[in-house]
Amino acid sequence: MAVDYQSLAVKGVQALSPYQPGKPIEELARELGLNPAEIVKLASNENPLGPSDKAMAAARKALEEMCLYPDGNGFDLKQALSKRFGVGMNQITLGNGSNDVLEVIARCFADSDSEVVFSQYAFAVYPIVTQAIGAKGVSVPARDWGHDLDAMAAAVTDRTKLVFVANPNNPTGTVHEADAIEAFLDRIPERVLVVLDEAYCEYLTGDEYPDGTKLLARFPNLIVCRTFSKAWGLAALRVGYAISSPEIADILNRVRQPFNVDTVALAAATAVLEDEAYLNRSREVNEAGLRQLCEGFDRMGLPYIPSAGNFVAVEVGEQAAGVYQALLAHGVIVRPVAGYGMPCHLRVSVGLPEEIDRFLDALAEALVSAGEGG
Ligand SMILES: *Cc1c(COP(=O)(O)O)cnc(C)c1O
Repeated sequence: MAVDYQSLAVKGVQALSPYQPGKPIEELARELGLNPAEIVKLASNENPLGPSDKAMAAARKALEEMCLYPDGNGFDLKQALSKRFGVGMNQITLGNGSNDVLEVIARCFADSDSEVVFSQYAFAVYPIVTQAIGAKGVSVPARDWGHDLDAMAAAVTDRTKLVFVANPNNPTGTVHEADAIEAFLDRIPERVLVVLDEAYCEYLTGDEYPDGTKLLARFPNLIVCRTFSKAWGLAALRVGYAISSPEIADILNRVRQPFNVDTVALAAATAVLEDEAYLNRSREVNEAGLRQLCEGFDRMGLPYIPSAGNFVAVEVGEQAAGVYQALLAHGVIVRPVAGYGMPCHLRVSVGLPEEIDRFLDALAEALVSAGEGG
């Protein structure tokens, strides 16, 4: 008798569809017999600058310690973060990417009796971690592609343990100003934890935008999550962190894996925090790239969602899957977002100017060939 192992998985996991990452360059190169160097990947919101020299030097040096376990407390990185944000080291929880932190938060605070609130079109990891622990995800309809914060506050019930807010949000790029976030936090009971996911906050420059770390003193139920994967250019090394009250950090640190951030990642992240010039270049390249993308879409008459991140969701119509495939044939990888309930959009990450030109040229041709049913 063959055992049906599907039926042995816990209920939430049985029905789980895993996170769909952007297509790797090497995979497309294999499929099309192309040289990887000719492929343009604008699919995973990676930093087009390549890594910071300071991060590279620190990572190389750290490799020499690969036979030793990492510092499980991440002392140097926590100290650097603590200085930068004016928070205590005991307020920081490090993660293997901020995805890791998001999952640890869900496991610490929600279970099968809980509800977890997030927005329609919000980051896919929120429903995944919610379902994996058997909690009930409550997806609140978006307003103009962004979080409807009033409706999200109204969706909180006696069973709600967690609310996820992505600001800016991925894949839509929508953002709320500080006033709106604070008014929202005022409406959430203190027994409900609010996770403010600020993966793209480094790209926000205006004073009108919130800095979650400045709100912690006023809102003890707030957890701010950030990452080194985007503006800091360390996506492969997997480093993210949460900043919260010491009490919440203590809980999260009980559950995270003891060595969840490795030595190379710790060293590179600590070093890159000193590389303000790299961060500034990331911002400049991003601002120029967003403009270049949006001007291209305007010329083609394609609607897009104005973005505060390092990517834009552009509306290419019902043939979006065909446009995606046609772009692949041109050696350009973008991200389909049908899985987010956005079947007419594609998400395009900001690249270098020449990469964006390649993409825009390929898009113009892909729209024609997909329209012909090709
Ligand atoms: C990219 C992203 C993250 C971070 O991912 P990690 O690489 O795991 O740090 C978190 N939240 C959102 C909304 C993102 O887009």
